[in-house]
Order: sequence, then C-alpha cells, then structure tokens
Amino acid sequence: ATPTALMVGTGRGAQLGLLIRGPEVLESTRRIDTVVLDKTGTVTEGKMRLVDLIPADGEDAAEVLRLAGGLEDASEHPIATAIADAARGQLSALPAVTAFANTQGRGVTGQVEGRTVRAGRVAWLEEHGLVLPEELGRARKEAEAEGRTVVFAAWDERVRGALVVADTVKPTSAEAVADLKRLGLTPVLLTGDNAAAARAVAAEVGIKRVIAEVHPEDKVAEVQRLQQAGQVVAMVGDGVNDAAALAQADLGLAMGTGTDAAIAASDLTLVRGDLRAAADAIRLARRTLRTIK
Ligand code: ADP
Ligand code: MG
Repeated sequence: ATPTALMVGTGRGAQLGLLIRGPEVLESTRRIDTVVLDKTGTVTEGKMRLVDLIPADGEDAAEVLRLAGGLEDASEHPIATAIADAARGQLSALPAVTAFANTQGRGVTGQVEGRTVRAGRVAWLEEHGLVLPEELGRARKEAEAEGRTVVFAAWDERVRGALVVADTVKPTSAEAVADLKRLGLTPVLLTGDNAAAARAVAAEVGIKRVIAEVHPEDKVAEVQRLQQAGQVVAMVGDGVNDAAALAQADLGLAMGTGTDAAIAASDLTLVRGDLRAAADAIRLARRTLRTIK
C-alpha cells in the first residue's frame, strides 16, 4: 500500500464524517467479517424516558417515583436521568440522597429520608435479599417483550415498584445494518440490557445474533470470544462501558456523540453518531485498498 493512496482514503473519510486515527487503520478494516454493535446510544438514541410506573400491590406510585427520583438524581446513567426527570416533572423538589453508591451495570443505592433505597436490575436486588412480587414480574415480562427496560425500586426490605423506561431506535439504524450485511458482514448486538428488550431492538433493525445481559466488565471478553472463534471483529460503541471492548476489537469505532473514553479507545470516530458511517468506513477502506493494488 502506498502512503499517498491511503491518505486519499482518510481525506475522503473526513468528507463522510469519519475521523480516522491514522492511515494504517484502513488496512485492518479489510479483513473484518463481524461487526459488534452496542445497543444503547449506538443502535438506539440512548435517551431514555419513563413510560410507565407500576407500584407493587398496596404501594403508592407517587411515593415510588419520589424516592426513586431522589436516588437516581445522583446517577448519570440514562435510566437514572429518565427517572429523575419524570420525578422532577411531578414534584417541586426531589428528596436529598446521602451515602450514594453506584454498582456499574447493576444499580444504585443511597439513603433517602432515612431509608436505604435501591434501584436496579432484578438479579442485583435479589443478591441483596429482595424478592420480586409476582405482579411486578408479570409487568416486567410484558414491558420487556416490547423492547423496554424495566428497573425496580426498593426500600425497607421490599420491592416497591417497577419503572419502565423506553429508548428509541435511531431512524438510520436499520438501513445501516442492511448496508453492513450487503458488505458481507455479520452484525451482532451486544448489551447489558435484558435479553427480551435486546431481541426486540435486534428484530427492529434486522440483527439475528444477540448477546445480552453482559456486565460492563465482560463486554471485552465477548469480543475476545468471537476473535478466538476466528472472527475478525469491528466493534461500534459509545459508552465508558464499551471502551475496553473497543480497544480489544480488531477495529474500534466510536460514536462521535459518545463518551470521551469510547472515542479515545477507538481507531475511528463516526462524527455524526450515525451508524451508516460504519458501513461507509468499511466500504471506503476496501475501495482505497483496491485502487492501490
Ligand atoms: P447498557 O449496556 O445497555 O448501556 P448498563 O451496563 O449500563 O447497560 O446497565 C445494565 C443494567 O443495569 C440496566 O439495564 C439496569 O437494569 C441496571 N442499571 C444500571 N445503572 C442503573 C441505575 N442508575 N438505575 C437503575 N438501574 C440501573
Ligand atoms: Mg451504549
């Protein structure tokens, strides 16, 4: 490969909204056969909103929102922002939280008005001895089947309510996935979210292969597993959670709208946060390298 031709490729990349770390990046792109896509913020907008709140039997919905909102106001997770924003819309002031602690990819806890409040995924609440009431389990199944994410709020040893948050698939994601497939690449959806929600999003954009309920620290191992199976992997992500996996992938692509950690760990940035640019990048690399030969 002549350096000049590769430089032409990177210049064209800029026009396509691609920020390429160095000309050699395009070379590694040629062998890619698998594209791992993070769900939240990559395939979806990553802007969650609270769409439903189901109190456990005998609980008050407004109280669940008030305490969960106070707790989540201390977290920056998109789920937390959705809950805190909804609570703020209902109340003049949120209750204060002390002793706040975040367990990455699982949930949050803190003291609100003298209570130990928790909000997070079921498995994590169960690890803390909490039991999910049956009616909330049913509500969860229904919401997850529609592609939604459900977290639960608990205090004083009881799960008090289910909070249903919804994200939106980006309007360009399905087209981007179709384009990746036309290039002969296999798309894989990778997420910490529940399997039902992940499958619903995957179906909406045309992805068959789904790896769900992966804890943030395990995303890198999932990429390694694909590589060990002989696949050459590109990974597209936006979160702090994705940084290690982006660095591990044969080609890491960060959403320009994502976190600094994801961008720093990647070979290439999709400046506009549009997934279609991932396919453009691979197409550009193939064309550039073909001209060189
Ligand atoms: P993703 O891979 O979709 O970005 P994360 O790994 O950040 O997801 O989180 C995985 C799961 O952990 C969430 O779907 C949620 O159930 C739970 N969780 C994480 N942070 C919070 C929070 N602040 N409040 C409630 N639940 C949370
Ligand atoms: Mg994400």
